[in-house]
Amino acid sequence: MLMQELRELVLDTRPLERVIGTATAPIAAILERSLAGEELSFEDGLALLHAEGADLAALIRTADHVRSIDAGPTVTYVVNRNINFTNVCFVGCQFCAFARHRKDDDARTDSMETLLAKVQEAIDRGASEICMQGGINPEMDAFEYRNILTRIKARYPQLHVHAFSPMEIMYGARRTGMNYYDYISMLRDAGLGTIPGTAAEILDDEVREVLSHKKVDVRTWVEIITTAHKVGVRTTSTVMYAHIEKPEHVVRHLDILRNIQKETGGFTEFVPLRFIHTYTVLYQKGLVDPPPKGAVDMRMYAFSRLMLRGLINNLQTSWVKLGTELAQLSLAAGCNDFGGTLMEEQISKSAGADAGEYLPVTTIRSLIEGMGRIPQERTTLYDRVADEAHGTGHGPGWRSGRSTFTPGPELAS
Ligand code: SF4
Repeated sequence: MLMQELRELVLDTRPLERVIGTATAPIAAILERSLAGEELSFEDGLALLHAEGADLAALIRTADHVRSIDAGPTVTYVVNRNINFTNVCFVGCQFCAFARHRKDDDARTDSMETLLAKVQEAIDRGASEICMQGGINPEMDAFEYRNILTRIKARYPQLHVHAFSPMEIMYGARRTGMNYYDYISMLRDAGLGTIPGTAAEILDDEVREVLSHKKVDVRTWVEIITTAHKVGVRTTSTVMYAHIEKPEHVVRHLDILRNIQKETGGFTEFVPLRFIHTYTVLYQKGLVDPPPKGAVDMRMYAFSRLMLRGLINNLQTSWVKLGTELAQLSLAAGCNDFGGTLMEEQISKSAGADAGEYLPVTTIRSLIEGMGRIPQERTTLYDRVADEAHGTGHGPGWRSGRSTFTPGPELAS
């Protein structure tokens, strides 16, 4: 689908009822149920992921309407910096072009001084968060993640550290001989603010076996995430799509996330991440033929908005994966968050993403305003950041991602 056709599909201005009226009866019925606040079933989700033509237009329009009710006109963003502090990794994920063997010429691990200098640079540019993830580097000290947190927080106590994927948590716990509860509690006490819900890819062990047979399995991913929530460390949630997965895998993945959220309320947001294929083994071996960017991405966002309705209210687009034009368009397909400024992003870039590594706040704000929406800087936990330069922009319909979360008893007491 050409960009112009996609724009017309997504930016349809006809009344909602009329757009739904052009959909097939089964899809229209699902959309009506979602509008009425009903939780959609596995079969509903599967049908939505097959939506084409008028059905797709109705899905996107409904998701935009639901977004306007549940999240209002505000589009949030966070001023942050990614730090991919080591690219040394032995795991060998077939979709990853970032990892290096420790003896490769371009293998690198940031020293503590380099890390702190990067954090200082982020602070100088107004960041409220740093997001740190790296390869699984067997040469690192067993307590390295804790040590990094301790050093950063000693110098920048106010900074929110969003770090260490469930894969890193699994490895760190294994290296230290600690269970997940004690290990995550130790990281929390050392200053860990939240955990990225990455390493999720697709939560299906058969798919994971193809993508990366050494990666954290589904049961362990769920255990780490729910344990984090229990000790008061919230996480994001993600899916990686447009590779070898089938629609049923994606629906089951979201169902797993929904069940976790019902149990803990600990997810702050959901971030669909398009697979970037160009330099990956998966693509170079001919195992994947990813669909062109555009309709598949809008469908994924719209589907996610409806499937997660009432459970995860913040749906984040990814300008790194999609580029700014499509990310902007996705704001009309159910998204209410634009992600972060990043400043350094090497994982997607290594795989062939060409959207760059840094998006200034002024650009993010003008992209949001270009869609007739209200930009609002937020913290990692979706509290608003008052900024006199931009105005607080706290529009009607604001929802804090924190409202549904009840920390574990040890924090509540
Ligand atoms: S995705 Fe992460 S764990 Fe997998 S190979 Fe790349 S750096 Fe290693």
